[in-house]
Amino acid sequence: MNDYDVIVVGGGPGGSTAAALTALDGHRVLLLDKESFPRYQIGESLLPATIHGICALLGLREEILDAGFVRKRGGTFQWGTSPEPWTFSFAASDRMAGPTSYAFQVERTRFDKMLLDNARRLGVEVREGHRAFGTVKTGGRVNGVRYIDDTGHERLSTARFVVDASGHGSRIHHDAGGRREYSPFFRNLALFGYFLGGYRVPEPNSGNIVCASFADGWFWYIPLSATLTSVGAVVKRESATKVQGDPEVAYAELISACPLIKDFLRDASRATEAPYDRLRVRKDYSYDRTVLWSPGLALVGDAACFIDPVFSSGVHLATYSALLAARSINSVLAGLVDENRCFLEFEARYRREFALFRDFLITFYHQHSDEHAYFGEARKLTKHAGSADAAFVDLVGGVTSTDFSRHLLGDVLAEGAQLQLRGLLGEAAGAEPPMFPGGLVASADGRRWQLPDV
Ligand code: FAD
Repeated sequence: MNDYDVIVVGGGPGGSTAAALTALDGHRVLLLDKESFPRYQIGESLLPATIHGICALLGLREEILDAGFVRKRGGTFQWGTSPEPWTFSFAASDRMAGPTSYAFQVERTRFDKMLLDNARRLGVEVREGHRAFGTVKTGGRVNGVRYIDDTGHERLSTARFVVDASGHGSRIHHDAGGRREYSPFFRNLALFGYFLGGYRVPEPNSGNIVCASFADGWFWYIPLSATLTSVGAVVKRESATKVQGDPEVAYAELISACPLIKDFLRDASRATEAPYDRLRVRKDYSYDRTVLWSPGLALVGDAACFIDPVFSSGVHLATYSALLAARSINSVLAGLVDENRCFLEFEARYRREFALFRDFLITFYHQHSDEHAYFGEARKLTKHAGSADAAFVDLVGGVTSTDFSRHLLGDVLAEGAQLQLRGLLGEAAGAEPPMFPGGLVASADGRRWQLPDV
């Protein structure tokens, strides 16, 4: 049979999460990806909300914890007016205290395959080498996907819901209506490659992401193993001409222009094995959409929006939006909540999370402040009741929403830490209030929406 409850286009973190969470609710799910996994992707620095929230819901947290990825306790930044690099730690937040106060730096070839294999294990029909090129509609509702299969034949499959998780190069996001709007502020270009033998900051922070600003933009420096490091230059629009010639020459010149990164790479050499043996360039990656869903179609992850990578929010936004979409689809298919109401909740929560990162990043790009001023801005923006440091760490850890602070993390915390959380949040740790007036709340298992207790 070629008819499904859900078709997901794209097997990155967003697609695997949406597919797995709808399959877990008992639905027939087809996932199409044009590539064969493992496949390369950029976006290697993850947030605690993804590991301890989403991966826990997917039943994959233990496997990820045991996979040998580099543990990321926080970030080390040479940024703003402070002359010396400063470090933040996820442990500074009460919401992530104890067993959830870290994330991982991952090789996406491995991480994405683990998520996709997990979706397959949960019953998703995964078809690799299948490229979607359009949707079909009946009566204004999207109810199918057209694709080329792995033998080159054109096919059509139908479903009650289609999720577009096919990333920045999506061919079908237009079918939701509306348009993609590129950020007028973040018009940078990224040039990135890999090194062996780079310097590690002293323990316990050796797994931190390091970000260093310099005249032409900033660098990320992400330790992916004891020896392998991802090194990327994010170049301002005004300096983009420097990257127009030979990328190898431009990359070497940019590294020379950033003293901290130059020093970290003093004993390092370029990686020579695929997929790390070449430089890559990405541009036009910061955008939003005026429409995130239409009847029968939801957009998640980079198919919908992405914003500058300095706080590593991409995989978080992809998997979080996938969770919100899955909750909406599961609730409608179970006949529990009106479809419009479910997807308005999906959109409201997704836009809130995206806007937090976007608005804070705009402030953060102004280099005339020190870290304390940045922390204060995070507190203002999130209306956080705790300290400015905690507000900053919650924001960049992806746990400002009740989805992660009360519900998901609560599920995976050790009993002692759960008591600690309950102590901090009081009664609220049990009953989640709606995030917006008149809004919905998550069910106890996190996979559906329900009406709040009144
Ligand atoms: P993807 O991971 O892009 O997956 C989409 C999938 O869809 C792919 O497997 C693709 O093969 C498939 N697909 C595409 N078209 C079709 C089609 N027509 N038919 C079928 N399948 C299709 N994020 C972080 O979290 N941390 C970081 O440190 C970070 N650094 C970044 C640095 C840069 C320079 C950039 C540009 C981004 C960075 N990101 C980072 C963002 C991150 O790369 C993305 O946000 C994340 O990969 C989005 O996941 P996704 O599942 O939406 O899409």
